[in-house]
Amino acid sequence: SKAKLFDEKTDVKTTFKDVAGLEGAKEEVQEIVDFLKNPSKYTNLGGKIPKGALLVGPPGTGKTLLAKAVAGEAKVPFFSLSGSDFVEMFVGVGASRVRDLFKQAKEKSPAIIFIDEIDAIGRARGKANFSGSNDERENTLNQLLTEMDGFGTNTNVIVLAATNRADVLDTALMRAGRFDRQIYVDLPDVRERKEIFEVHLRPLKKVADELDTEFMAKQTPGFSGADIANVCNEAALIAARQGKTAVGRQDFLDAVDRIVGGLEKKNKIIT
Ligand code: ATP
Repeated sequence: SKAKLFDEKTDVKTTFKDVAGLEGAKEEVQEIVDFLKNPSKYTNLGGKIPKGALLVGPPGTGKTLLAKAVAGEAKVPFFSLSGSDFVEMFVGVGASRVRDLFKQAKEKSPAIIFIDEIDAIGRARGKANFSGSNDERENTLNQLLTEMDGFGTNTNVIVLAATNRADVLDTALMRAGRFDRQIYVDLPDVRERKEIFEVHLRPLKKVADELDTEFMAKQTPGFSGADIANVCNEAALIAARQGKTAVGRQDFLDAVDRIVGGLEKKNKIIT
């Protein structure tokens, strides 16, 4: 059986409403939405539409979510793959798989290609790598660069890539006409955490009135958007387990404790 090369979503429902905070990043990607919807507005004046942008920031801060929202806002198909899956699953055939991916995206253009964990493919050349041989990874990286260089001005496929290690990337990736824009996606501040809580309370069916999202935001310094999504889900599970009919403040606090416990364990393994 053939392993799946990438995911293709044609009817993306995610929009900027699903992305809380990240005002600066949203403003920057709004421009990409506009390029995808109205390319001639730019090319008529002789401008070249950018081919790629790099989303840089810590894990769980909404990079994938934001990329998906670009596709949802522009109503274009979303082709996604993870750099690490790619390197592990397609030993020996990485370059030809990259060619296939771009071919399909071009056929369906305008489109977004999203490469998560691009550092797995795009590490500086000549440095040791933990999976696959270096030659193999370099072939894959070279093919990616070739594909991006080969886009005509009217291709209208934009490649978004995410990383939390921009420092290890091959500088060839950042050259003009490739990923020449970097968009920072940082951990949320207290005001943004409140907004993220509000987004993730929406799917919870019954939340007791006393839940104060400002208070919850203050209880969760250092939490990413993914951690907060996790808190909301855990809170619902904790309340349900106790047979409650609504999710209350104490359930959220217990969920925070549980997540903090998990984070501490993770950090202990790292250090
Ligand atoms: P990684 O680097 O681990 O791939 P990421 O930055 O791509 O992480 P996402 O996968 O986009 O993070 O985030 C995981 C989940 O966390 C999202 O699906 C969403 O539920 C929640 N989340 C993260 N950031 C936000 C945000 N700014 N607003 C709303 N939800 C968020």
